Amino acid sequence: MKKINLHHTHLPLKILFFIAKLCHIKFSLLIIHKSLGLLMYIKCWGARGSISVSGSNYLKYGGDTTCLELRTRNNEIIIVDAGTGIRRLGNYLIKNKDSRYNMLFTHAHWDHIMGFPFFKPIFFPETKLNIIRCPAPEKYIENIIKKVMSPPYFPVKYKDIQGSISYTKGCPGSFMIDSVKITPIKLNHPDSGCGYKFEEDGKIFVFLTDNELGYVHNGGLSIEDYAIFSKNADLLIHDSEYNDEDYKKKKTWGHSTVNQAAELAKMAGVKALGLFHHDQDKHDDDIDRLVETAEIYLKDYGIKVFGVSADMEFYL
Ligand SMILES: [Zn+2]
Ligand SMILES: [Zn+2]
Repeated sequence: MKKINLHHTHLPLKILFFIAKLCHIKFSLLIIHKSLGLLMYIKCWGARGSISVSGSNYLKYGGDTTCLELRTRNNEIIIVDAGTGIRRLGNYLIKNKDSRYNMLFTHAHWDHIMGFPFFKPIFFPETKLNIIRCPAPEKYIENIIKKVMSPPYFPVKYKDIQGSISYTKGCPGSFMIDSVKITPIKLNHPDSGCGYKFEEDGKIFVFLTDNELGYVHNGGLSIEDYAIFSKNADLLIHDSEYNDEDYKKKKTWGHSTVNQAAELAKMAGVKALGLFHHDQDKHDDDIDRLVETAEIYLKDYGIKVFGVSADMEFYL
């Protein structure tokens, strides 16, 4: 499991990690989060774009599609997107005896919702799932989820869910989940959608997947707008599916190049950039090359760059 330390100032943690390293102790960041309760904790359960993949060429960055787990200071769980990565997250939450969750969606393309019926906790009566009405208000997301679990698409129906699902108001304005302030922004993507800024105790995490910075879609915004939105973020995770050569053929498809994502990181003055929504046909070494491209682009700006992979954990 990969751990990314983006917390540069917290001395007790630095000492804890130093001692653990000396003693060859490995522990989950989640355990630290739970015991100290002072970090914004994020784990990626899927970073692949468009369709899940498997095989020996995908071991480093993983094959599952979009799903993130965030934990607030008080250990409230926020799940972002139900790509195929949510299946493993669900199994983990059951094992961990967590039964209360909040869920947010960026948009309704298949790779961001197809895992929902495989999120096993929905079939447990003790589960309490609060779905935020995003990316559009009213019954938009409710209707999407019901459709995913209806004939002829899936054999188990929405009405057969055993856990309780509630829907609460969210987009288009800012809203709170426990101690985290969440601010949505329109994505630059076919069929639209929302990116999100998560703020807690002065820490900022911005998540913009399926966002094309080189072309303005209906309802989308300019790179300058996304830079203002992402200003001074501790971590920006951004769509960076293509290299410049790919983009010649795929402009308007709704995704960014790695150089566009790096330019946004530079304009916004973020501390770290995570490359995300990896193309289904890009193998691990192809993604390594995208990371190198971004490193070259940002070499004079002191911005940490990495490719986000499944099972990567962050604390801010
Ligand atoms: Zn996608
Ligand atoms: Zn999409």
